[in-house]
Amino acid sequence: MSSKAKILLIYTGGTIGMSKDFETGALKAFNFGKLLQNIPEIKQLDCNIETFSFEHPIDSSNMNPSMWTKIATIIEENYPKYDGFVVLHGSDTMSYSASALSFMLENLAKPVVFTGSQLPIGDLRTDAKENLITAIQIASLQENGKPVITEVCLYFEYKLYRGNRTSKVNAEHFRAFTAPNYPELVESGVHLKLNSHLFLPVKKDAKLIVHKNLDNHVAIIKMFPGMSEVVLSSILAIKDLKGIVLETYGSGNAPTEDWFLQLIQKAIQSGLQVVNVTQCSGGSVNMGQYETSTVLKSLGVISGKDITTEAAITKLMYLLGQNIPQNEFKDIFETALRGEISQ
Ligand code: ASP
Repeated sequence: MSSKAKILLIYTGGTIGMSKDFETGALKAFNFGKLLQNIPEIKQLDCNIETFSFEHPIDSSNMNPSMWTKIATIIEENYPKYDGFVVLHGSDTMSYSASALSFMLENLAKPVVFTGSQLPIGDLRTDAKENLITAIQIASLQENGKPVITEVCLYFEYKLYRGNRTSKVNAEHFRAFTAPNYPELVESGVHLKLNSHLFLPVKKDAKLIVHKNLDNHVAIIKMFPGMSEVVLSSILAIKDLKGIVLETYGSGNAPTEDWFLQLIQKAIQSGLQVVNVTQCSGGSVNMGQYETSTVLKSLGVISGKDITTEAAITKLMYLLGQNIPQNEFKDIFETALRGEISQ
């Protein structure tokens, strides 16, 4: 029996899988079946690779919760057969998908590595080959017959990040992602440098639970100086809205004007979950540090701490889908469930 790791490569779409029509210059969907033939280097990897492709590969701008469920289901159905999963995905919404999947896959004991590229795999200067090859290599890492990485990650441009810590920050550079509040799990140089102390510990003997109920009655509201009462009140009046991620300033600060605080108070009293995240790319919400956040704290606003907006909105969808009692929601949100916030 082969002791090589078995990897399932799941192709959802995105630039990585597109190829250039050299006559027209246009990018078009790739024949995924030929993917491995196009990268002969893959044969040198010490693993067995099988592939699964979305029937209609998408640009990741069209990603949505039902497709997250589809990815989760593919992983669930193939979980016993494979040692690791690599998800090929457009970079635009990859951080949202990696965050969502991290919440949906509870007790994960195998790696799920998202990757993609800024240039198609057939392009002369492509970043796709390195991203794909190293993502597969990382997903294949084993120690004593057990996967080394047991969480949802994102690999891009020589770095493996915890997926729910990432944001896409550049539409031009190959280094398109950062994880400002959590160091990289693996760095790829001449050797793979594993920062094992940063990995999520695996829960021994815990069975994989796949949560497929995501509630998208949510919104993200980014504060800006000059936001008017009518804008905020209109959003908060949306029928069936259950939660908002409020992107505030600095360490969680917002206006102290009466109309603003009263709208937030009314919303919370009517059962809306209000999560405070910072619009800064790094750092943490710390309500109470300034006068401009003290009232928010006393109103019962949830602290997103150092969570990314991508992880906050997907965690909100996940927790709202869990029917958590109202009085426990805040505490659960403020707890790190998959390493998405620093405790
Ligand atoms: N628009 C593409 C997508 O997200 C960009 C990429 O793949 O990098 O699907």
